[in-house]
Amino acid sequence: MYDVKSMCADDFINDDEIRDTLAYADAHKADVELIDQIIEKAKLRKGLTHREASVLLACELPDKLAEVYELAEQIKLDFYGNRIVIFAPLYLSNYCVNGCVYCPYHMKNKHIARKKLTQEEVAREVIALQDMGHKRLAIEAGEDPVNNPIEYILDCINTIYSIKHKNGAIRRVNVNIAATTVENYRRLKDAGIGTYILFQETYHKESYLKLHPTGPKHDYNYHTEAMDRAMEGGIDDVGLGVLFGLELYRYEFAGLLMHAEHLEAVHGVGPHTISMPRVKHADDIDPNAFDNSISDEIFAKLCALIRIAVPYTGMIISTRESQDVREKLLRLGISQVSGASRTSVGGYCEEERPHDTEQFDVSDQRTLDEVVCWLMDMGYIPSFCTACYREGRTGDRFMQLCKSKQIQNCCHPNALMTLDEYLEDYASPHTREVGRALIQKEIPTIPSQKVQQIVRENLDKIKQGSRDFR
Ligand code: SAM
Repeated sequence: MYDVKSMCADDFINDDEIRDTLAYADAHKADVELIDQIIEKAKLRKGLTHREASVLLACELPDKLAEVYELAEQIKLDFYGNRIVIFAPLYLSNYCVNGCVYCPYHMKNKHIARKKLTQEEVAREVIALQDMGHKRLAIEAGEDPVNNPIEYILDCINTIYSIKHKNGAIRRVNVNIAATTVENYRRLKDAGIGTYILFQETYHKESYLKLHPTGPKHDYNYHTEAMDRAMEGGIDDVGLGVLFGLELYRYEFAGLLMHAEHLEAVHGVGPHTISMPRVKHADDIDPNAFDNSISDEIFAKLCALIRIAVPYTGMIISTRESQDVREKLLRLGISQVSGASRTSVGGYCEEERPHDTEQFDVSDQRTLDEVVCWLMDMGYIPSFCTACYREGRTGDRFMQLCKSKQIQNCCHPNALMTLDEYLEDYASPHTREVGRALIQKEIPTIPSQKVQQIVRENLDKIKQGSRDFR
């Protein structure tokens, strides 16, 4: 039975309900009256149910889809403005005891070099990331209770937060590690993490069991219920994601939205972010081996529909995707991008991009300076802001800010000031020039005159060496 409030994965990601939803969506995919009603509801900016959104996903009527894309763009602007948050992944260890068939870190892979950073190496990686200008990281590790126990992850988080170098400081560490216990989530919370991110990979249980044939990750329910344990452990901000390409995208889409509905129903707050990864080529992994790969067009449609179904949830696109794809998706809903990422353990300290410990191929290989300038050329404000979580605006407090559209008044000035710090400390002369002009253009768009004045004063202070205004 479908029970959104049940704490058992089989109930809140209910296979019968998903199949029924897909049949309903197929039956109504050209039902103009219903589609119009759903679009009208989406315009209220309060989101859509998995059933309603699935009808729009099934719909192929060009004029209706044009309306959906237009609405997604508008909702993105309403809730997130033109700011794009920047981050980088930091790979700590590729030791892994799981058997995930799409991931080169799987235990049986003997050609990949296994590596785990020492704390000195973590510090060197952090300095390299700070020297680019990064302020926000997502730490990544394989699952290995012997090589990467929770104590190791906690040590790494402490090291990351402790390194101050020139004007650099990592101000927010998000964590993407395997599903764990409530107690361990509590320890992560106490260590001051930002978002806990865990990709579901696939919501289709039967496929999940085949794609994760061995290791602790084989346990579908334990994995799917991880966010409930994380929230029970006090982590307010959790990040969902499906690895598109593994299973049929319509099934995944319904499952993803059901998961978001479950978190909202049980914990009073939906996912802080939804990531949009697609399977990529990697050592001993051929993405063509997964016959559910999706076209760029379907990928864009999914992005637009997630945007309107959960308007207040941040959306993330990584460097798995090319500049072109990222450009298209930014318009339709993405609010966070990674930049200058290296998916190898210790990769940031190497002169050349290393491939021997890499998790997957990176399509967008530009420098952070190039990514920042590219965003600004398109009219976006690259934001290095981490103020919300450091001011305790997490979970439902952040969602309230977002739902009431106050994110605009609060985040816009912070984005401009952190961008200015970046320009001052790290940017190339060209990027600095483009950025300073953009900041001057954006200040008058801050609703409050008083806040405009504060921003101007703080920009002067940044020139004189002050940093980190909140
Ligand atoms: N070990 C943790 C876990 O099991 O969730 C964390 C992280 S893993 C370093 C991060 C994510 O990379 C995985 O959740 C998976 O979705 C993604 N990934 C693995 N192999 C990939 C591939 N070939 N292409 C694209 N993404 C991949």
